[in-house]
Amino acid sequence: MKKIAVLTSGGDAPGMNAAIRAVVRKANYHGVEVMGIYRGYEGFIEGNMELLDLGSVGGIIQRGGTKLFSSRCPEFKEKKYQLQGIEKMKQAGVEGLVVIGGDGSYRGAHALTTLGFPCVGIPGTIDNDIPGTEYTIGFDTALNTVVESIDKIRDTATSHENSFIVEVMGRDAGDLALWAGLAAGAESILIPEEAYDIDDIIERIQRGEARGKKHSIIIVAEGVMSGSELAKLLKEKAGIHTRVSVLGHIQRGGSPSARDRVLAGRLGARAVEVLLQGGSGRAVGIKNHQVIDYDFGEAFNLKHKAEVSLYTLSKELSI
Ligand code: ATP
Repeated sequence: MKKIAVLTSGGDAPGMNAAIRAVVRKANYHGVEVMGIYRGYEGFIEGNMELLDLGSVGGIIQRGGTKLFSSRCPEFKEKKYQLQGIEKMKQAGVEGLVVIGGDGSYRGAHALTTLGFPCVGIPGTIDNDIPGTEYTIGFDTALNTVVESIDKIRDTATSHENSFIVEVMGRDAGDLALWAGLAAGAESILIPEEAYDIDDIIERIQRGEARGKKHSIIIVAEGVMSGSELAKLLKEKAGIHTRVSVLGHIQRGGSPSARDRVLAGRLGARAVEVLLQGGSGRAVGIKNHQVIDYDFGEAFNLKHKAEVSLYTLSKELSI
């Protein structure tokens, strides 16, 4: 291969820029040019891209978001647009593609692979919900953002003797809520992977009150219900008044943590290696501290599951 392309797709995540940089630098190291495609699959269909030279990815390792912009492009599910994009790539001499995104983005890459266009996926999402890899790029940064926010909420909760519900992102995955709840010492954590017991949550609040505790922090993953729905439940069932904080998009922003930058560097470099060695239809990831690559099929067939032992631990530590 002499020329490949890279794009970012789906929800943005801190560390995507570091991954783009790694792809460009590693490819150049091997004498391969990299085109940066703008706005994910939208730009792929239109052939909207430009050459990323070594200097063009300077000074972005510490920046959140993605310099290539991202988009959701529903029409890319149609074969005619996939073929149109492949044609644009062929015209520009692009022989392979690195896709940085979530599982939806992987499905797009998989479709291109089945049409004979080599693709490799890098997991970039704060949700940490991609099967086959233990961590995704952006998760660590988002986790730190959530924990810092909860710490601040705790200050005001303590001062005003309030109980707070904090609604955390993660789509159908509970990792962000679970890890953040553990790290911030939340009293209760609700995640989609585990059935919640409203009576247990109430009991924990009341037990705390009985021993003089004036506030509690309850973390709810957006995949379970909204913070306001939970507040309504607690009010109706036990007359418990809570304040609700929805952290929202701040969770997706900010300078990537050192851990996410290192992960982006390792996965970006491996993705290029896989493409240059003739691999296609594969995703890169991390398992037991080792960089791995595996078939997209594995990512689609396995189901991501938050670490149950952490959930059990959170219950034990917040009695
Ligand atoms: P996040 O998890 O952060 O939301 P994601 O990659 O899962 O990221 P999606 O919106 O699901 O985000 O997918 C991104 C894009 O991938 C879609 O807008 C679409 O262009 C493409 N895509 C998704 N599913 C398919 C599919 N089945 N076939 C082809 N392309 C797809």
